[in-house]
Amino acid sequence: MYFDTHAHLNFPVFAKNRDKLIEECLRKDFWMLNVGTNLFTSKKAIEIARNYDEGIYASVGLHPINFDTGLSRMKIDESEAVEEENPFESEFDYEAYKKIASDEKVVAIGEIGLDYYWKPKTKIKLEKFKEAQNILFRQQVKLAKELDLPIIIHCRMAHNDLLEILAYLSTIYGSKFRGVIHCFTGNWEQAKTYMAMGFHIGFNGIIFKFNQEDIIKKISLDKVLIETDCPYLLPPKYQKKINDPMGVKYIAEEIAKIKNIGLKEVADQTTQSGKALFGVAG
Ligand SMILES: [Zn+2]
Repeated sequence: MYFDTHAHLNFPVFAKNRDKLIEECLRKDFWMLNVGTNLFTSKKAIEIARNYDEGIYASVGLHPINFDTGLSRMKIDESEAVEEENPFESEFDYEAYKKIASDEKVVAIGEIGLDYYWKPKTKIKLEKFKEAQNILFRQQVKLAKELDLPIIIHCRMAHNDLLEILAYLSTIYGSKFRGVIHCFTGNWEQAKTYMAMGFHIGFNGIIFKFNQEDIIKKISLDKVLIETDCPYLLPPKYQKKINDPMGVKYIAEEIAKIKNIGLKEVADQTTQSGKALFGVAG
């Protein structure tokens, strides 16, 4: 079996075929964790998970690109907004997230982190923008610590700042982190630092765009999680229009090829690590 530890079947793009797709995944032994990006998609992830006894889990969190700082924000394709009217939140409502995170299907806080891709152009605005993301991130780590849940971290073009914040937070909380650096695109030094802090490293279809061969070769398999980030990052060999949790098999295959080990070993070990990190049995 496989465990796609980062999927978004909670996204509006899956509104029409979601149930069928989930049933196919479960029948073929693909488990998934649907990751929230704002209150709407977080609640949706829980609602989906509640329909199934096992194999489908949820995380809740406010993604940095869904956080409207008033300084800069991503451009969205309005035509995709089938279920959701406004994906942006200008404040992090700690109590609202805490309330939904208490659901038994919620196994993590995420995705949270830093994303400097859609950054403002002036220096003053950029500093404010980074500071706002930093505060948002720390609020959500606090929530994870309060609820004793692992964290799912998104980081784009911001690894140095993220490592600095995490180093600071580890002095406050005085313990290692439990969580994953999802969609990893950093270098080996950064990967080692994250692992020393307690994190797993998540690989998805980005490995077909950015060469991560060297890191995949060196990394101990028990620190690896596999994921799709579907609907995004469709593996080139997967004959579908939109990625889905079954696409995680191509990530496992690529890792097995690079590490020169069996596919089953990758599937088994990553499934076991995913279950252990997110505290799900089965
Ligand atoms: Zn994601």
